[in-house]
Amino acid sequence: MSDRIIDQTAAELSAGIREGRYTSVEVTTAFLDRIDAIDGTVKAFLHVDREGALATAAEVDADIAAGKETFALAGVPIAIKDVVVTKGMPTTAASKILEGWIPPYDATIVERIKTARMPILGKTNMDEFAMGSSTEYSAYGKTLNPWDTGRIPGGSGGGSAAAVAAKMAPLAIGTDTGGSIRQPGAVTGTFGAKPTYGSNSRYGLIAFSSSLDTPGPVARNALDAALLHEAISGHDPRDSTAIDAPVPPVVAAARAGATGDLSGVKLGVVKEFKEGSDAAEPGVIAAYEAAVEQLVKLGAEIVEVSCPSFAYALPTYYLIAPSEASSNLARYDGVRYGLRAGDDGKHSLEEVMSLTREAGFGPEVKRRIILGTYALSAGYVDAFYGKAQKVRTLIKQDFEQAFESVDAIISPTTPFVAFKFGERTGDPYQMYLADLYTIPSNLYGGPGVSVPVGLSEGMPVGLQVMGPVMGDDITYRVAAAFESTQDTLLADTAPEIEGK
Ligand code: GLN
Repeated sequence: MSDRIIDQTAAELSAGIREGRYTSVEVTTAFLDRIDAIDGTVKAFLHVDREGALATAAEVDADIAAGKETFALAGVPIAIKDVVVTKGMPTTAASKILEGWIPPYDATIVERIKTARMPILGKTNMDEFAMGSSTEYSAYGKTLNPWDTGRIPGGSGGGSAAAVAAKMAPLAIGTDTGGSIRQPGAVTGTFGAKPTYGSNSRYGLIAFSSSLDTPGPVARNALDAALLHEAISGHDPRDSTAIDAPVPPVVAAARAGATGDLSGVKLGVVKEFKEGSDAAEPGVIAAYEAAVEQLVKLGAEIVEVSCPSFAYALPTYYLIAPSEASSNLARYDGVRYGLRAGDDGKHSLEEVMSLTREAGFGPEVKRRIILGTYALSAGYVDAFYGKAQKVRTLIKQDFEQAFESVDAIISPTTPFVAFKFGERTGDPYQMYLADLYTIPSNLYGGPGVSVPVGLSEGMPVGLQVMGPVMGDDITYRVAAAFESTQDTLLADTAPEIEGK
């Protein structure tokens, strides 16, 4: 095994720091140097905070030297998606409209990361306002997939996934509204988890679709993700939709799964996912089926379940998400934050707002605002937004019923491997299809993880494990059990990136 710091998992780094094998300053410096060496090629980061990260690392080292108690991930560095606000550190959501904005406060999950004393390496690139599946819609340029730099790293959280895949960070934070943690995880060979909606605070997340947005961990394996999950989760009175219940025991579940025993576990495969699989590439299906065989060998029982409303998940999402986005994005008016255009004394206030929004938003964001405004407009709201909410209830009922007979539901995470740049930007529907399998769990509110299971045409494929609401632990157990069947983590087989 490699003894390079950047090749260690977060769990190994955390143990190494606590046991004095290396200091947090050494660990943090190794990742910062890696960023310096290769991020000119990958472009995963929008902002790097060398000084801040090293200051936290030095504090942790001092505490450990003084024999003070430290948190599980103390001293292990982390990257944060730029849609999460960080006090004193630029936060743009990859939009021109927020260029130069320095938030005066921290998101709850950032507060928790600081409490855990994890050095923050910087902010990662993404599709503007988290709208997209390829990171091509960032206003600050695209991030490259470390496996093949001619291909997309997924989206919207392509920066966080690429940072972990290229070993510029051992852990990262993503946000998942329709798949933006799991889909980038799948296409970069990293582990991504969308927790149960409401179990991780949205306070300080720049809102896209408030009834769907969920922050969560990006890592190299299930245990690392679970450790981060526990560090950031839990009730937050500042989020009105937060669930006030104990955090599911995800770390214990990941450790239990690593023993490779799934006897007695019932895994559902959704009939309608399979019937709709003509959207999926044969290589993806083959890698997924090989993974299912492994799970069966570990003792899992496969049971077919039915979610008749699955066919409507994508259109339902693309009415609800843009509707909520059109309302959430109304606040960017040139008065409160960031960019202000046309403020030359020759334009009215309304013209300043309109010029600011014209100059500040990119094409995908504008498309969603128009779509959402239309779906919410008088005379259409019942036909579109109202109808979509009703279908969402049906989808929720389908999944609740399915979870009466199975412990978890499995599927490929994405229908296709990472595609080439430019391949889908011309046709929004083709881009939206990337989230065909991930959107249902956002709509019913339950957890979903993506674990790397193999390659198709040399590119990573992910297996998605979905659980019932607040059943996050089973998703980690199944994913960790799959990992136990592999000699090496797929994440450790990514090609070496050369710096510029
Ligand atoms: N790709 C989906 C969209 O564009 C999901 C994005 C997300 O999860 N943030 O809406």
